[in-house]
Amino acid sequence: MKPSDLNSQAADLFGNVSQNRSDLYSSFLWTDYKAQLQNRVKGLELEKYFELTPGERIGIADTIRLNVSATPYYISLSDPEDSNCPIRRMILPRESESVFSPEESSDPLHEERLSPVKGLTHMYPDRVLLFTNHECSVYCRHCMRGRKVSDSKERMLTEDLEACFEYIRSHSEIRDVVLSGGDPLNLSDAKIDWILERLEKIEHVKICRLGTRNPVTLPFRITSELCNIIESHNTDRLSIFCNTQFNHAKECTPEAKEAVLKLLKAGVSVGNQCVLLKGINDSGEIMLELHKKLLELRIRAYYMYDPELIPGSRGFRTPLAKGIEIVGYLRGKIAGMGIPSFVNDLPGGGGKITMTPDWYLGFYKPKRMHVFRSALRGTYHLSPEPPDSTMEESYPLLSEEMWERISPNSYGAGEKSDDE
Ligand code: SF4
Repeated sequence: MKPSDLNSQAADLFGNVSQNRSDLYSSFLWTDYKAQLQNRVKGLELEKYFELTPGERIGIADTIRLNVSATPYYISLSDPEDSNCPIRRMILPRESESVFSPEESSDPLHEERLSPVKGLTHMYPDRVLLFTNHECSVYCRHCMRGRKVSDSKERMLTEDLEACFEYIRSHSEIRDVVLSGGDPLNLSDAKIDWILERLEKIEHVKICRLGTRNPVTLPFRITSELCNIIESHNTDRLSIFCNTQFNHAKECTPEAKEAVLKLLKAGVSVGNQCVLLKGINDSGEIMLELHKKLLELRIRAYYMYDPELIPGSRGFRTPLAKGIEIVGYLRGKIAGMGIPSFVNDLPGGGGKITMTPDWYLGFYKPKRMHVFRSALRGTYHLSPEPPDSTMEESYPLLSEEMWERISPNSYGAGEKSDDE
């Protein structure tokens, strides 16, 4: 076959993909979230809307993780030709997703071992995770709950939820309930109303956090009716928050902004928990652009997760140093409310820890001085320990040699730096 024939075949294929996309987008009322869900594209049907690479074909056929499915809305944000498009990488599995590596586990955080009743994890004393359902609008390839998300056998029945409420009711130390799954906003309005009402009636529960990716993958789900329900339970008794997961600036659309504004009008503050994903958002520039857009959407940064050791995750994992480098890059380039905490949820159920660059260099005991490196300028700065402190022994010590090297070129509160 001549190269020109190959080119024309590729053009035909793309012509079909492009036409298929137009046909799909115009086949139902675009802003109707139920129609979006009914028209989700699943498994190898996705080849009508993407020029699949051989690796993506293998990934779809052999994935060892959750189902493959996406809303037409989310597909419309992706590139049909470019296999490195960040949105596409979150929709379509690659071949690496079919390899279960030795360091991986279906439940790396031990959420099931820390589950006293089906569908509830009690890891921190005052908080629980309640898995209300296991359906989502899009099944994200990096999902850390692939062990049960999209699995119909994991369905939570009303009696399962009642058992969870009973557990919460009988543990007065629980103040904060995170609704997760799956995506709790994929439940019906009536079910969400019922769950929030149940929580509101438990006197010691003061906070409810909705973990949802619908503002990203199906913003039309955030209807006025749903927001009215949420607002009706967002009372003196219960404070409702929302944490969502935008991972790339391409997801920050006008539709997403409209969804977030509706939640804000219902008194729900919205935070973002992105996941650091290799080849998708693993650079300071991409994360800066994302977090600038999020502030325009009125979303505050919350977490940037190091991906979990789930099956088939090697393709998404970055070196730990990459996350630390990104946090260092962001500091000084965007307001603090736009900088996420880089967290590692410790394998084996150790809970979250945060990691930052080494801006604190140590304590120089002879002078009772703390020594810092500026994230903004890279200069060294000194701050004394309070005279009445009894905590001097708790700091890592700065060596004599470092002090000799740094102190002549450092700045304190009373001194001016060169460029001031
Ligand atoms: S929306 Fe959340 S729970 Fe659902 S697949 Fe994506 S990351 Fe997993």
